[in-house]
Amino acid sequence: MAKITRIAAISIPAFSHQASILEFCKRLVHLYPNIHVTCIFPTIDSPPSATITFLQSLPSSNVDHIFLPPINKQNLPQDAPPAVQIQLAVSQSMPSFRATLHQLHSTTPFVALIADTFASEALEVARDLSFNLLSFIYFPPSAMTLSLFLHLKTLHEEVSCEYRDHKEPILIPGCIPIYGHDLPEHFLNRSSISYELILRMSKRLLSLADGFLVNSFSEIERVTAIALEEEQQRRKKNTSVYLIGPVIQTGPSSDSNGPECLRWLDNQRPKSVLYISFGSGGTLSQEQVNEMALGLEQSGQKFLWVLRAPSDSANAAYLGVENIDPLSFLPRGFLERTKGQGLVIGNWAPQTQILSHSSTGGFLTHCGWNSTLESIVMGVPMITWPLFAEQRMNAVLLTEGLGVALRPKFNTSGIVEREEIAVVVKGLMVGEEANGIRQRIGELKDAAADALKEDGSSTRDIFQFVTRLEDLTRGHQIFDGS
Ligand code: UDP
Repeated sequence: MAKITRIAAISIPAFSHQASILEFCKRLVHLYPNIHVTCIFPTIDSPPSATITFLQSLPSSNVDHIFLPPINKQNLPQDAPPAVQIQLAVSQSMPSFRATLHQLHSTTPFVALIADTFASEALEVARDLSFNLLSFIYFPPSAMTLSLFLHLKTLHEEVSCEYRDHKEPILIPGCIPIYGHDLPEHFLNRSSISYELILRMSKRLLSLADGFLVNSFSEIERVTAIALEEEQQRRKKNTSVYLIGPVIQTGPSSDSNGPECLRWLDNQRPKSVLYISFGSGGTLSQEQVNEMALGLEQSGQKFLWVLRAPSDSANAAYLGVENIDPLSFLPRGFLERTKGQGLVIGNWAPQTQILSHSSTGGFLTHCGWNSTLESIVMGVPMITWPLFAEQRMNAVLLTEGLGVALRPKFNTSGIVEREEIAVVVKGLMVGEEANGIRQRIGELKDAAADALKEDGSSTRDIFQFVTRLEDLTRGHQIFDGS
């Protein structure tokens, strides 16, 4: 019987990251059945329900999972942004991660650890002599974001002002120039704890990772990947960058709303519906919800809108939603007036099924990288509406870099007004100027499908990762599953 190569993986307590690493592991073990992966999940209070549904759908094969004892949300700084709370929860989970790894490793040794970027502290554990595992980073966002993270130390030394006040666009190796105000939110206040954590993470990635598995594909980010490898060689590091995507969600998500959405879409004309969603936790302010509603109505276009209760914090729902009916926050009479025009769904919808439905013709997205890739894979043109994290960078890549999206203008108070929404929505759905966008997204859809073929660029990069793993582990003890 073939030898089993055992890998441990660790993610963070956020559905989109957990689903992404699980999907990658599914593909890895499908291509290489002699690999077994155990995914270890730090938890805040309790696992996301969408992750539970997702895990239940996994075939009982070569990917299994363990939830670490939960960190109590009350013990995290309540005023810190969700991204900081998540990283602190991961830090607090390190003792139980170490104990779990030790227990598993002592019976069936692992050869490598794959850690989500925001769980990179785990690489220090993996390097511990009692484990001595190879360390890879699973990077759910774009190669452009990885290039920024790895370039941060240099940027930090070279730029003295706040990045958002930097007059010239910032140059990141292999990427389109980007203005400071479009950098990820952690970068916008250099005296914040978020920035300090990201700087520390960046140094850890540079010193500890044996390689980066990036959820992107050659046809959209080849130049960035080449620049990343050149930078690593310049640093005299033998650290490879593998573009192993597009990894997108294929498992079911927890959506009692699913049948209603799909039934409604079945009754619409091909490519006539704009889908609107802000990821697993994005929220709009009450004022923006009003403008969105009235702008959609004014556009006259069909829409399917996943709505959350408004909040002044754009990622308020990232760690769970409150039990309030989001539809009660819509402008008076809106639902009656738009009855034949649109459908509004509370909190959650089956996104990949909606994007792949023939009636869907556009996606107004917060540009989370998973949503971005899902839209590319399904060939759906986008309107970019970045809210937090690295979403503004993704919006720049989609508009200026790849030319597959329109970007609406925010006013000086940070609101997109109803007239602007109506113009952009009509522009994307029926405007002649969007013909080029539709053609380019169609080309990217084909390129994404090609990347995943047996001889495609993504499959080749996974092969190279496995070959590297074998080369590096030669000499390591490998558990014989016979
Ligand atoms: N998602 C979904 N239904 C929803 C909202 C989100 O299935 O109503 C999924 C979506 O398909 C994607 C993920 O949740 O896979 C969101 O990830 P993304 O990186 O776009 O954004 P994040 O949630 O990290 O902000």
